[in-house]
Amino acid sequence: MGDGDRRGHAGWARHGRRQAVAAVIAAVLAVSACGSAVPAAPLPSRPSPAPAASQPAVSPRDSTPAAASGQREVPDTSAGLLAGKIIGIDPGHNGGNFTDPAAISHQIWNGAGWEPCDTTGTATDGGYTEARFNFNVARYLRADLRRNGARVVMTRATDDGVGPCVDQRSEIINDAHADVAVDIHADGGPASGRGFTILEPVADGPNDKVIAASARFGSDVQQALLAGTTMPESTYVGVDGIMQRDDLAGLNLTSVAKVLVECGNMRNAADARLLVTAGYQQSVARALEQAIIRVLG
Ligand code: ZN
Repeated sequence: MGDGDRRGHAGWARHGRRQAVAAVIAAVLAVSACGSAVPAAPLPSRPSPAPAASQPAVSPRDSTPAAASGQREVPDTSAGLLAGKIIGIDPGHNGGNFTDPAAISHQIWNGAGWEPCDTTGTATDGGYTEARFNFNVARYLRADLRRNGARVVMTRATDDGVGPCVDQRSEIINDAHADVAVDIHADGGPASGRGFTILEPVADGPNDKVIAASARFGSDVQQALLAGTTMPESTYVGVDGIMQRDDLAGLNLTSVAKVLVECGNMRNAADARLLVTAGYQQSVARALEQAIIRVLG
């Protein structure tokens, strides 16, 4: 903390829910989750170290016509590990959110309290947005999962729209009857803090049956990120890169096993250098793929 409005999903946990909600309502046009100090005004121009959303990040493994058309791919030689499985991916925020502060500040009930429909998300000092990072990782992950035979449901199809609201994102994943799901984010923590944080649900009724499975998945994600990326566990929040949260619609309202991953701290210079690269984004996707295979295996 001590970083003003730049606290994120992880950072909010240091405050009571009532305080957090009050703070959000008081400053909803200027503050977003994941620590964004991103104003409702246009963002700074992008340095574009990664592909734009309209021509999304395409890895060598995501270049098939099936991937481009959104159709289910025919699994390749490594396929079948996730055949018949349905995976939910929620790339946090949306690239157009900052254009419609009224829409995203609309308050929704998250099962335990009120929170904004959505927020702009955070950004690096260079103006690389969290929404864009989240979407790139999601696309890489979607391609990886399809290659293993899975059907993938994403909560947004582009990075230039607004929303959907966080409660609707949970509904999309619930309606799809996903076997497991992941919310992809990057945090806006204190500039001195590094690392990833995995946010896990707390039983609140709708998610009661998936608490244990979500915790197992969270541990698998933790191990996979440590093994497969160069990002450390969070130095500023949680324990060993994991923390429980009871104040987020994405965890409270989802009735399938799910965790929210803050893949690094965009406000930290060392983390930011990793987060903007396609290489790191792909390594996160591969780690999540491995964790999904393990938890469903
Ligand atoms: Zn976020």
